[in-house]
Parts: sequence; structure tokens; C-alpha cells
Amino acid sequence: MYDVCIVGAGITGITAASVLAREMNKKVIIVEKREHIGGNCYDYYNGVGILVHKYGPHIFHTKYKKVWDYLSNFTKWLPYTHKVLAFVDGKLVSFPVNIKTLEQLLERHFTEGEMQSWVEKNRVPIEKPKNAEDMVVARMGRFLYETFFKNYTLKQWGIEAKKLSPDVTARIPIRFNRDDRYFTDPYQGIPKDGYTKMFERMLNHKNIELVLNTDYKNVINDIKFNKMVYTGPIDYFFDYQFGPLPYRSLNFAFKTLNQEWFQPVAVVNYPNEFDFTRITEFKHITGQKHSQTSICYEYPQDHVIDKNVPCYPIPKKETQEMYEKYKNRAKKLKTVFFIGRLAEYKYLNMDVCVKRGMESIKMI
Ligand code: FAD
Ligand code: UDP
Repeated sequence: MYDVCIVGAGITGITAASVLAREMNKKVIIVEKREHIGGNCYDYYNGVGILVHKYGPHIFHTKYKKVWDYLSNFTKWLPYTHKVLAFVDGKLVSFPVNIKTLEQLLERHFTEGEMQSWVEKNRVPIEKPKNAEDMVVARMGRFLYETFFKNYTLKQWGIEAKKLSPDVTARIPIRFNRDDRYFTDPYQGIPKDGYTKMFERMLNHKNIELVLNTDYKNVINDIKFNKMVYTGPIDYFFDYQFGPLPYRSLNFAFKTLNQEWFQPVAVVNYPNEFDFTRITEFKHITGQKHSQTSICYEYPQDHVIDKNVPCYPIPKKETQEMYEKYKNRAKKLKTVFFIGRLAEYKYLNMDVCVKRGMESIKMI
């Protein structure tokens, strides 16, 4: 007999298990469909011994001290500041857009004030941007939209930015200084021994039992439990009653090269050329020393249930409406709690998933 059954051993489910077992002394079972823990945050040492992220680059960053402090019980952190460059017109330029970006693109010096007037002249005043294109055009203008966002967004989502919610591009700032960090949260770092090791420590508790390689629907009638924390896809829980919620997926193509380095920073975005969106070189992130290097190309593709991994909920009006129908059904279930990227059908970063997992204490 378990107090709680958790579906999914991603970062959300693992955090929920850890807090429920440790803070509330609950007996927990986690059922995970994949052969490994960690969900999309899983990392592992590849054939030549380089630590890679199986589902693309994962950089931990948060403004929530309590999230950082909680994970710090299970890992030390490698200080890491994420830098991204964009490949544009044969050049690698600074991204997100800052003074250096304009200087590199327009080949002249800019002061902060000059950048402000340049942007003021180029931006299109739109009071309340209603889609992902307007969100960029309103803040930085059409030239920068077309240089960095238009084609990347089309590749990434398979949909024009005009048809996507403004939140998609609102994630990316424009800076009127020379700060070229991708994230500016006060807490940033990479788990010193990797994400999977940190998750193993979180799960290492007498109250937690883990079952891998198992779809929960195949065993749920054999498990006795009082409450459920569900972190799988919400539409699957309700047998796709209102139709399948669409996701965007990625094909991660890995390569190991017989050279020490491939590119100057961890991630290079390719907004306008090629079918892939970006290339990640993992050693920049992990700080690992190795004579070879491993890189990963991300090729966006549609999600096909049971064929590839659901990576990104598609943020647009129609999908939100479909999700609301599932959410209303979910609300009526008083002993099942739906949290995480798939259960809330929302683009959540890791830190918010940890926060949600920690909040499961209040639900149970
Ligand atoms: P998941 O990781 O999807 O875990 C859900 C788990 O449930 C999975 O293991 C799944 O197999 C399991 N499951 C599903 N159905 C069933 C079932 N029927 N039975 C049993 N188990 C089931 N966030 C950041 O903060 N920083 C980053 O740099 C970052 N980079 C990212 C890069 C990419 C390419 C992607 C796709 C995401 C990135 N994220 C990043 C987001 C991060 O991956 C998510 O926030 C996080 O993985 C979501 O965790 P989760 O536990 O909610 O979901
Ligand atoms: N984006 C873009 N060009 C870029 C980087 C991002 O158009 O060079 C847009 C794109 O629509 C993307 C969104 O901004 O989906 C959010 O980017 P982010 O880097 O946060 O995406 P993630 O790392 O989550 O894939």
C-alpha cells in the first residue's frame, strides 16, 4: 500500500517523490515509461566518455532561492554562464540582441543611447502584441525580427510566428548594454556530476520505490495507493477524449569529432540556413576535459505519439482551448494532481517544474 503513486520520473515527478518521502514521510511509488529516470533532463556518458544531454542542452537557472536551495541538498553546482551565438550572413553574432549584436551586423560602433534611438526608429509601436511575431517587432523592429526570429520560429514550430502565442518569443530579451548572457537569473549552474546523478540522489530514500519501463496504465489496477501525482500527458490520462494535444518534437543527431573543440560557445543558433535550429557542444556546458568533443544537432519535427518524444506544447489559441477542456475534467478529480510540462500542457522551465514538485506537499 502506497500513500502516493507518481506517474513519470522527470524532474517534476522526482522532486514530488523526494519532498513527499522526506518532508512528509509518505510511501511513494514512481512509475516511469522510459528505461531511464530524469525525463527530458536525462544526461549520460556516451561511448567515448563525454557527458551529453540526451534531449538537448539543459541549463539550470532560476530566480527562486528555495528551488536552488532544495536541489543543493543533492548536488554541488558548476558555475556556468550560458552564451549563445547566432550564425547570420556567414558570421557568428551575439544573441540575444545587445549592443554587440548591432555592431556585428551593421559594422559600426554603438553607444547605449545610439542603440536606443536605433531601436526606437525601427520598432513598430504595437500596444498589446497578440502573437509571437508582433512581440518581437514591437520590441526591436522588423529587421531584427527577420534576421533572428522569422525563419528560426518557422523551423522550430512548423508554424509562422504570427500564429503562435506572444509568450513564445517574449522569453528572449533585447538588451541596451553589452550583457550577452542568455539568462540573467541570480542562480545559474550545472549539477556537478550531471542531472542524472542528482536525480539518483533525490530518489535514494527508503520511502521511494521506482518502476521503469512501465506505462502506468498497464499496472495501475495492481497498485494500491491513496493519491496520485500525474506528470504524464493530460490528454493520455483521459484517453484523448477531446482529441490529442499537439506537441513539437525534436530529432537529436549526435556526432563525436576527433578534435578538442568544434565551436566557441555551447550553443550556436542557425536561424536562416539548414534544417536544424541549433548545434550544442556539451563540453562547454559541463566543463569536462577530453581530447574529443561531442555535438548535437536539433532537427524540429512533429510529435507522433509513441514514436518520438513530446518536447514542446504548441502555444496557440486552439490548443489552449482543447487543454482547458482536459483541465476542467482534471479539476474534478480530488485525489489526482496534474503537474509538470505535459500535465499542465505548458512551456515550463526546469526550475518551475521543481517548484511545482515541491508544492505537491500542499496537495497531498
Ligand atoms: P518530462 O521531462 O517530460 O517527464 C515526464 C515523464 O513522464 C517522462 O519521463 C515520461 O516518460 C513519463 N511518462 C509519460 N507518460 C507516461 C506514462 N503513461 N506512464 C509512465 N510514465 C510516463 N529547461 C530549463 O530550465 N533550462 C533549459 O536549458 C532547458 N532546455 C531545454 C531544451 C530542450 C530541447 C527541451 C525540449 C526542453 C528544455 N527545458 C529546459 C525544459 C525541461 O526539459 C522541462 O522543464 C522538464 O524536462 C519538464 O519536466 P517534467 O518532469 O515536467 O516532464
Ligand atoms: N527564437 C528565435 N530565434 C532564436 C532563438 C529563439 O526565433 O535564435 C524564438 C523561437 O520561436 C523559440 C523561442 O524564441 O522557440 C524561445 O527560444 P528559447 O531559446 O528560449 O527556446 P528553447 O531553448 O526552450 O528551445
